[in-house]
Parts: sequence; C-alpha cells; structure tokens
Amino acid sequence: MKTKTGRTWRALRKVMGLAVLTLVLLIGVALKLAPYIYTEISSWIEPHAIVDAAPAVLARGTMVDDYWAVERLNAGTFAIGEPRYYQRNYSYLILGTKRALLFDAGSGTRDILPIVKRLTSLPVTVMPSHLHYDHMGGITRFNAIALIDLPATRADVHYGQFIPTRYEFVGLIDDLVLPGFQVSQWIHPGNWIDLGGRRLQVLSTPGHTPTSAALFDPGYTQFFAGDFIYPGQLYAQLPGASRSAYRSTTNALLASLPHETTIWSAHCCRPGEGIRAPYLGVGDLIALQLALDRFSAGHLPARGFYPRKFGVNERLEFFTGFPWTNE
Ligand SMILES: [Zn+2]
Repeated sequence: MKTKTGRTWRALRKVMGLAVLTLVLLIGVALKLAPYIYTEISSWIEPHAIVDAAPAVLARGTMVDDYWAVERLNAGTFAIGEPRYYQRNYSYLILGTKRALLFDAGSGTRDILPIVKRLTSLPVTVMPSHLHYDHMGGITRFNAIALIDLPATRADVHYGQFIPTRYEFVGLIDDLVLPGFQVSQWIHPGNWIDLGGRRLQVLSTPGHTPTSAALFDPGYTQFFAGDFIYPGQLYAQLPGASRSAYRSTTNALLASLPHETTIWSAHCCRPGEGIRAPYLGVGDLIALQLALDRFSAGHLPARGFYPRKFGVNERLEFFTGFPWTNE
C-alpha cells in the first residue's frame, strides 16, 4: 500500500516537474521572440478598419478624390497624405528640373500613381524610407525604383527580384502579400541623388528598422525622416528595431543637420494642429536623444509590458521591446 502511494506520488511529481519545465521554456522562447509574436498577433490586439469611413478635413492642402491630402510645402516639394488610411501615411514628391523623386510609395490602399502624375510630368523615381508595408504598398506602380545600398537590402535580391522578408515588410498585420520588383538604382549611404538643379543626400538611419533611409535636401534645409521620427508613437518594438541604433542615429543626425532644418515625417499628425503634413524640428531630435539617454541610464521609467513606452516630449512617445530583443 505504502509503496504504491509512493510510486504514484513520484510519477505525479515527475509529470508536474516536466510541465513546469515546459512552461518555463515556452515563456523563455516567447520573451526571446517577443517582437515577432507581437507582430503576428498585433491585428488581434488592435483590430482596425483600413480606411476611415468619415471624410477627412484638412488644416492645410487639398483633398483629392476624397482620399489624398495634397499639400505644397514649397516650390519644389509636395506632401501626399492618406489621412483616411488608419496609419495616416505621408509620402513626399520632390521635384528637380530633370526628374522627380517620390519618397515612400504610399500604403497601396489606393493607387498613388494618378496623383503623382497630376503633380508632375517629370520622370519619377520612387524610393521607400524603409521596407514596412505602409510605405511600400504602391511601389510596383513605378518603373524606376531606388533603394538604399546595404548588405541587408542586397540580400533580399533573388534572380533579379527584390522581395523583402516577412518581418521586414510586416504586411501580415493586414494580410498583405510580399511585393517583388526590380531595383533600378542602388544608392550608397552618403551619396547624392541628382534631380537636376537639386540634390538630395541619402542617409542610413537605422533604429525603426535596420535598413531605414532618410533624405537631406540642403536647398530647402529640409530632412525627410521616414519613420525615424514623427509626431506620435515611435515604434522600436518591432522585428529589427533597435534602441541603441536609434541612439547612434539620433546623435549622428544632430551632428550633421543644420539647426534650422525642417523635418518632414511619414505619419500624421501634430497634436492640436489638425491634418497637415507632419513636421518636426531639430529640437525634437534633441528631446529624443535626451529621452533615450535617460532611459538607457535607468532614469526614465517605462509603462506597459510589451511594448514598453516612455514619453519624449508633448509630441513624441517611444515604444520599445525588452533589453534582449530591441537593445
Ligand atoms: Zn510607417
């Protein structure tokens, strides 16, 4: 009797031990893969309509076809926004005398090509600020596509076709298929794009993603930041995002950008200013640098479990992952 109870008890303890071990292992794997799991389940966590049914009322610019917000920023630059798209993306059309550059291709929710053609008759090259779906959706509508020349972007070319990986594109959030296209121009970080009478410098700006690019336009002292910085919640919790890269890129930008630079961002809007092309200043980069430094030193507490969030200033909040996933 005594032996039988003992055996049952030992077997039960063994099963429970195995269950606890499995649970601990599963939690460990989940914590390690947090950016990927977060991406996979984010459409369940935050269900969303792709296009807002209500019409958009702009603070600046003109609504075209009830979808596009077209705003002339200066003689040679247009902002093309999608204020009814749930992420409120903004692309930028930059004109030279010989050709034009479209920085970001829109979300692809509507065809951006007719809008671009309405604004310029110049040949247009499109260049994405990074490989996320909301910036690449319209890219295959263009024949001339430029990309930042990095080992990681070159690695995505197979038999002449560039195809971003699942977690570079992250279009799984909205059930989108990976785009494939030929790259017509590879641009090294630091090199210039000549549009005729206007030159833009391509900068590598890792942080939000490892292969993010930005453009500096000395003619108008403006900087096109993509998703590196915009008014709202900066995402550094997704696969490939890195807080240390965010810090070093911020420091590099502060060392190179003139203090009076206008920063044009890829997501709208500034609080209290309605719908208009989202702009920031070098002061916002300084605030970001201070917040990142304070967070890294343990002086800035974060809210939440995943992502962890901390405030930067009245316009910016920073989302990050764990030290072992997004450091
Ligand atoms: Zn984006």
